[in-house]
Amino acid sequence: MAVRFPGSGSPPSLILKQIERMQAEDVAWHDGRAFAFVYHADDDLERLLKDAYTAAFSTNGLSTTAFASLGRMESDVLGMLGDLLGCPSATGSMTSGGSESIFLAVKAARDFTMERRPEVRDPHLLLPASAHPAFSKAAQALRIRVTRVPVDPHTLRADPTRMKAAIRSNTIMMVGSSPSYPHGVVDPISELGKVAYEAGILLHVDACVGGMLLPFVRRLGRPVPSFDFSVHGVTSMSVDFHKFGYTAKGASAVLYRDSALFESQWFDFDDWPGGHYRAPNLAGTRPGGAIAAAWAGLNYLGAPGYLELARRAMEATDVMVDGIRAIPGMYVLGKPEASLIAFGSDSHALPSIVRAMRERGWVMGLQYPPASIHVTITAGHDRFATEFVLALHDAVANEVESPRGVVSGDYN
Ligand SMILES: *Cc1c(COP(=O)(O)O)cnc(C)c1O
Repeated sequence: MAVRFPGSGSPPSLILKQIERMQAEDVAWHDGRAFAFVYHADDDLERLLKDAYTAAFSTNGLSTTAFASLGRMESDVLGMLGDLLGCPSATGSMTSGGSESIFLAVKAARDFTMERRPEVRDPHLLLPASAHPAFSKAAQALRIRVTRVPVDPHTLRADPTRMKAAIRSNTIMMVGSSPSYPHGVVDPISELGKVAYEAGILLHVDACVGGMLLPFVRRLGRPVPSFDFSVHGVTSMSVDFHKFGYTAKGASAVLYRDSALFESQWFDFDDWPGGHYRAPNLAGTRPGGAIAAAWAGLNYLGAPGYLELARRAMEATDVMVDGIRAIPGMYVLGKPEASLIAFGSDSHALPSIVRAMRERGWVMGLQYPPASIHVTITAGHDRFATEFVLALHDAVANEVESPRGVVSGDYN
């Protein structure tokens, strides 16, 4: 039946009850059953984030003149992030998420380069095959050609030699991921930085998922290669607070080493009767709550808080990796540095394992090529890692031959 516009209003209690009822069908993320989408650490942090979000609920980041509080919080958050990632003087903006941060980095690269290299009429973007779809989405909208270069088949990391060979006279920017989403491996950013610098092109490091995680994984004493602005040649980075920053959704950042590159991100317009309109972002109106919650989360947790969250996520990862490897024929792909992993099998049908796990309440993504199951492990999973391993062993033990064809493991 078609939904009609409400002919009358409803009382708040009924509305909230209805939302609760609809949410009963959602994945039980609070019980650790989701391995993407939700980054939950603990209930105290969540309460603070909600209070901070609510405090700024009605404010609008479109105008940091009207809402000086948001301008202050945004510049604090960007300053903290630049400090964490090896470039305290970096400039940039907070955005609605990784996709917007990436869109803006690509847009800035295009405009910056085309202004300085007028011979580039047909801009080209160079990606490792593992780069997030947001780059292709941005390139499609911005009419930029894309080459996706195969990653090293053994390490699943970007291959600097092949990336170098794929540079064309119209290439504006190269990308590396810290780490890649599919396999959780950090691309060789130092080598890519050298290649990009020598070729005179920009290098964006996509640390959407890792920017708030890798610095603390390293402080735990685990091996993490150079992945940020400490690498010569890295010109911009994207980092999501709503992932391993554990803050409210709608919060990411794009940062530039050079403020001239950031200038190319801005939209500046006065050809309408509404006065001068100038905005750095794709979004116009911006929810102040997401900015305030990010500011609150960073200040509440500080370095010790994030270190502890990284420790919990990595311990849960160790338990899960050991449990996966204990299943004959099952293995983890590559050598992931952090808490995103993909596992595969030569002897078990992954689609039927994904389905069997879903029947047990665990939601995981199936991905390919090569076929594997993806999980993002957060601090909040520490209480559920053993339960996960038991469920996985049970699912494998009761594995039924999968009918031909694939159970969709895709997210959407
Ligand atoms: C999640 C993610 C993105 C996209 O971020 P959204 O917030 O979902 O738009 C980009 N790159 C990587 C590596 C990611 O993990």
